[in-house]
Amino acid sequence: MPVVTRFAPSPTGLLHLGSAYSALIARDRAREAGGRFLVRIEDTDVRRCRREYETAILQDLKWLGLDWDGEVRRQSDHFSDYSHVLDRLGRRGLVYPCFCSRAEIAREIAASTSAPHAALHGPDGPLYPGTCRDLTPAERKRRIAAGREFCMRLDSARAAATVGPYDFVDEGRGRIVGQPLLMGDFVIARKDTPTSYHLAVTVDDHLQGITLVTRGEDILPSTHAHVLLQRLLGYATPLYAHHGLLTDRTGRRLAKRDRVTGIRSLRESGKTPADVFKLIRAGLEPGGPKA
Ligand code: GLU
Repeated sequence: MPVVTRFAPSPTGLLHLGSAYSALIARDRAREAGGRFLVRIEDTDVRRCRREYETAILQDLKWLGLDWDGEVRRQSDHFSDYSHVLDRLGRRGLVYPCFCSRAEIAREIAASTSAPHAALHGPDGPLYPGTCRDLTPAERKRRIAAGREFCMRLDSARAAATVGPYDFVDEGRGRIVGQPLLMGDFVIARKDTPTSYHLAVTVDDHLQGITLVTRGEDILPSTHAHVLLQRLLGYATPLYAHHGLLTDRTGRRLAKRDRVTGIRSLRESGKTPADVFKLIRAGLEPGGPKA
């Protein structure tokens, strides 16, 4: 099978050393195998993403010589693909509307931490406590008719029972047993769009025929959720290669906001693409390549 990789930035800021490193890996892995390297703009968070950043990211990739194959796929142009899949999950009773505000969720979690069965924790903090999971169909209808805003969440316990045990392979780590409850009842569609990052990534990796997903190890917990969705939807599971994150001399992770690591400002200060690749290699040194 030909290798297809992708670089999938969210245009919430400019390209920086860390994201350029991800793009470089995806490009190299495709080129080494005589495969295809795709670029996808993940702009489903319509409030945080900006078209100016998208344009700048693509220009910076070109300047670095990281040329991609084919058209760039912009997720906000494909909302109907995601809502179609969301409907499929809905018909199988695998998702439910959640009317909770952030404040309500925080209150619910605070209340449960003082109870004997404290809130369950996921990789990013306490998990959604499931407040809306067991609302009756009539109550759901009433709230929707009353114009209450809602997002859609995956019923992870039901999804886990549907799928059964599953696993996936990370190149550097080997076979990993899927943990379907790791992310709890995560958001499948936000209040303002018919998708979330998790759903869009899963649908697009499938539609674009991605065979090798290269991305930062900070996203590894989400992979458990993505593979769960793949199994629910009958999609193939790609091979994963979660790579280590670039760090500065003190071992601190390079932040997106650091001006010094922005490709645009490096370029404006007279650095060449070769200098940028040197900086990336240096950023790998303190912790060593962790992939
Ligand atoms: N859009 C994500 C980000 O910019 C990357 C997601 C992925 O590679 O799957 O962090």
